[in-house]
Amino acid sequence: MLIDIRANATPEDSRTHVRFAFKLDEPAYAVRIHFEYSPKRLDDDGRARELLEQSFEKYVLPEQLALAKERLDRSLPLNNLITLSVDDPDGCRGACHRPDPVQSLTISEREVSPGLVKGKLAAGEWTITLSLHAIVSDNCAYRLQVWTADEERKGGAAMRWTACELHAHTLHSDGKMTLTELASAAAKLGFECVALTDHNTMSGLADKETAERRAGIAILPGMEWTTFHGHMVTVGQAEYVDWRHANAGNIHDGVSAVHARGGVAGLAHPFRIGSPACTGCYWEYEVDDWNDFDYIEAWSGTFAPIKTDNARAFSLWTDKLNEGYRLAATSGRDWHEDAETDEPISVTYLRLEDESRPIGEEAVEALRRGRVSVTIGPLVTLEVDTSAASCRIGDVVPAGEPEAIVRIGIDFSVRQGLWALADPAYRIRLSSNRGVLEESAVRDMEGTQGTQGTQGTQGMQAFRMSVQTEGLSWMRAELWGNVRGVTTMIAFTNAIYFD
Ligand SMILES: [Zn+2]
Ligand SMILES: [Zn+2]
Repeated sequence: MLIDIRANATPEDSRTHVRFAFKLDEPAYAVRIHFEYSPKRLDDDGRARELLEQSFEKYVLPEQLALAKERLDRSLPLNNLITLSVDDPDGCRGACHRPDPVQSLTISEREVSPGLVKGKLAAGEWTITLSLHAIVSDNCAYRLQVWTADEERKGGAAMRWTACELHAHTLHSDGKMTLTELASAAAKLGFECVALTDHNTMSGLADKETAERRAGIAILPGMEWTTFHGHMVTVGQAEYVDWRHANAGNIHDGVSAVHARGGVAGLAHPFRIGSPACTGCYWEYEVDDWNDFDYIEAWSGTFAPIKTDNARAFSLWTDKLNEGYRLAATSGRDWHEDAETDEPISVTYLRLEDESRPIGEEAVEALRRGRVSVTIGPLVTLEVDTSAASCRIGDVVPAGEPEAIVRIGIDFSVRQGLWALADPAYRIRLSSNRGVLEESAVRDMEGTQGTQGTQGTQGMQAFRMSVQTEGLSWMRAELWGNVRGVTTMIAFTNAIYFD
């Protein structure tokens, strides 16, 4: 942390500047600034009126004084106002003159908060100036934190989230679509990427290039191992792996074979009713090492979060995280036909870190590393900053930092027009192996301000909170709300881990 101060201002400090310097020993990629003060308003009504009357005496023409006092209520409430500006080694880098008493700001080469100027962050002496325009309460506590987020360099502008459907079938098994029809239907639903996971065959992929060209989206090669003891979705492998050798005790051999061919493997709908109605639909394999699997398909089908099978799969994932395993959780529609549905459709967002590589390879890498966020609505993201590292979903926060700053983003602009949730009263929850660390209302869809420090820009909301890292091994963000009369999870991120 470059600056971490708490201080107090009083009315005597009104109309003064307070400056805090910090030094960048080398050019930085991004600097983050968090600043807050409290209280915002002067609740003592009598005192507020007294202050206003004094100012009227001073500023209003004598003949208008009576009228001004009569209309005094129009000037209430009286607020404290502190604003922030930034100087780099060459001079002023901008100011954030706005009333918000909680502000989380970024300044970097590629991204910047309104009011500040983006560009290189030179080494040298920097200054944050707090301008105390008005302190009307007896005391006004403020806090300023400044830190670098250089880990973000590895992502930078090349990083983006891509909407994927990870479980689908065609005529090559028991689906009703050709691959081109599947890819076109997926594109219409706003997916950029669909995995073909036919049962026990990869023959449908012969049409991959044609289908990709016609539909304009990427197709991931895959196969659903449809065995007697469980269904296992595999994605990204270069070639067919024979599933028929699988028996109740040797599924790890199959996983190794998929890994050896560049693929990833996950449990498909592990709690769906099994034999004889649907042989293998219920996962009955002995698992020696959960780290061997890349993911669990926690949400299967449409309107997935309300289904009891999926609740069991989600709990299984949480149990494994609590036991110390690091594995991802995804959604998959198990899509067989292009039938209209009015049920919410789940999307697995995968974070691509290097756009110069083919989307297919990057998507598989994202699954392998747990760079995953699942939703039936907005995209939820999670980041953790300590003074030593800046981590995203799937990353591991190094040990030794007692405090971390957690940032949760909710992007309402994704797949615009393709989903709708009638009730805009959401709650954001930060879950972990220590239980729920924080929960708060997402107050205002367009909002600019909430108790935890939300800032709205173009359909994006950001929450920021500080947590003690002791005893933490993982955390994830969840979005809850009312969907069609049911209180349900709407979205969940995959985990950020702690060493
Ligand atoms: Zn299946
Ligand atoms: Zn399936």
